[in-house]
Amino acid sequence: MTIVERESFRVFTDVLEQTSKAKGSEAKLKIIEDFWKQISRVSSSNADDCPSRMMEPSDSFSVLRLLLPELDDERRSFGMKEKGLAELYISVLELDSQSFDAQRLRRWQDPNLQQQAGEIPARLGSFFSVLEAVLRHRCSDTSCLTIAQVNDSLNELNTVLEKEKRKKIFHRLVSNCTLTENIWISRIILKEMHLGIRFEHILKWFHPSALEDYRLTHSLRRICEDCFQPGFHITSQDIILGQPASVSLAKRQENLQRIPYLMPDGFYLEPKFDGERLQLHKKGDEIQCFSRNALDTTNLYGPHLKSAILLCVDAQDCVLDGEVLLYNVEKQSFEHFDQIRHYVSKDIELGENFFITFMIFDVLYVDQNQNAPPSIISFPLETRKEILKGIVRPFHSQIRLVPYREGRTVEDIKDAMEDFVQQKYEGVVIKNKKKPYVLGERDDEVMIKLKPDYFTGFIHDLDVLILGAFIGTGYSKQIRLGKPSHFLIGLLEKDYDESHDRLSDVNWIVIGKVGSGYSYEQLECLQDKLAPFWKPFDKKSPPEHLKNSLLKADAVPDYWIEPCHSVVLTIHAYEVRPSSIYSGYAVRFPRVASIRWDKKWYECSTLEELIVSQETSSVG
Ligand code: ATP
Repeated sequence: MTIVERESFRVFTDVLEQTSKAKGSEAKLKIIEDFWKQISRVSSSNADDCPSRMMEPSDSFSVLRLLLPELDDERRSFGMKEKGLAELYISVLELDSQSFDAQRLRRWQDPNLQQQAGEIPARLGSFFSVLEAVLRHRCSDTSCLTIAQVNDSLNELNTVLEKEKRKKIFHRLVSNCTLTENIWISRIILKEMHLGIRFEHILKWFHPSALEDYRLTHSLRRICEDCFQPGFHITSQDIILGQPASVSLAKRQENLQRIPYLMPDGFYLEPKFDGERLQLHKKGDEIQCFSRNALDTTNLYGPHLKSAILLCVDAQDCVLDGEVLLYNVEKQSFEHFDQIRHYVSKDIELGENFFITFMIFDVLYVDQNQNAPPSIISFPLETRKEILKGIVRPFHSQIRLVPYREGRTVEDIKDAMEDFVQQKYEGVVIKNKKKPYVLGERDDEVMIKLKPDYFTGFIHDLDVLILGAFIGTGYSKQIRLGKPSHFLIGLLEKDYDESHDRLSDVNWIVIGKVGSGYSYEQLECLQDKLAPFWKPFDKKSPPEHLKNSLLKADAVPDYWIEPCHSVVLTIHAYEVRPSSIYSGYAVRFPRVASIRWDKKWYECSTLEELIVSQETSSVG
């Protein structure tokens, strides 16, 4: 008999209860360790042994997967959330579908309904609290389930899809459980343990190399087997072809001034795409795709990308890191993140209107040089980028290399941010060119992300008037070719008095270009309303009211509009900066907060208001 065939699940759930209530990681680990020693019957003489060696790997695996269900790659998802679990309980408890308790389980989020109950859940808005209240007088006081039996039932539940069969399995699992066991089984199924301790701590306690092993393999079973070996130690973090490695993560850093100090040897600035992370493993003619959380997404993306990868990638074996995006041909833009899974997972034929693009930004493994090890994550980013350029020929619209520019200063960051946001990217990713690839950690000396939303900005609710328009072109623009996608915006030099001032006396101060913040529908509406009034902008003879604005290079719009036909936009922006391309001032990272159909053209803000907001803003 193995340990887990012998040990009771009830004792394990008592340990989970105590762990969740204990304060601090140390106290929590002590509870787990005592339990570990108790079930493995480790005597005090060998009590210093590493937990990974106290039990056979299969026993350790059985317990760890119940302790850390979110890391269990063999039981990825039970295919249900709270609602599905509520239905299973309604069936097991044989509740009338219309009964109050059945409603409570289904509408566990509804505080009004819960408050009508005799027993109000301990925590409103918590499924587990509602479940506890419903189950309280319906569970047995004792149980004889073993850890192995729970795992067996969960394995079955995980693989069986048929509804009635699932009910039977669940019934068998929980019908003789105590209340506490029921709650923890539900937590394991929903992978919401809330033990108050990070999985990283538990893995490090289990074995000093367990966390690194996890980051390289994402396999709990393998960790248990590896860490059981005497002297097991991960010396170099080498990517294993076919095993998903933890992806590098970006840290948020709002303090722009700090970034050059964090990355003193310079950095690369890349657009932040709003897609889905993809780690692509190529082994000969086969590819495997893994998500940010190491889920195998080969079924989703493999069919779309395989032939393009085989065509464009010049390496027998390699691991590429990037972002997968869905391109909408009609809109001439990448779809929002949610739409990718919507289209791809529903297996809707993408047809001619959509295609999947893999934007590659890194290479982690390549078999090129027979004398060198294939895993290259220890190489600095600048070297990996060079290798990447050498093996990927991005001549296919589905395979592209992420563009990047070099930077060293805060100004470089602000400029990149401004450009990328203008181009409708989500923000900027800043990467230290001298650093190796870091698995699964956020380190602001390695990779930083910046999004305009991080900067609520200093300029709120500035009302600007659309003075000109730029035609959408290119790959990333969010609108059909030939229609305005960005607008030249400006303010009144001083207040306009409808009864006194003549239209020709009005001076306009151009302060920038805006192209984000509105939805596709809002933009279409703007385009339709303004379409009759656009006039081609001739640089040699600009319209009278824009004559004083120095419009240089890409600040010259394709069209202009008479102010009286135009529309006011309320914008938010990060800051005001001096500018030599507009009328002396420009706003950074402007975003449209609302389209003011209700405002007259002369009701927009004035230069004075802008200057006041500049004075109250502190740059960077
Ligand atoms: P977010 O919700 O901001 O995307 P996240 O928690 O999913 O954050 P982070 O590590 O914080 O992940 O941010 C980096 C993510 O941004 C990556 O996981 C990747 O999916 C995406 N991304 C988009 N463009 C890039 C890029 N050029 N370089 C690296 N990551 C990028």
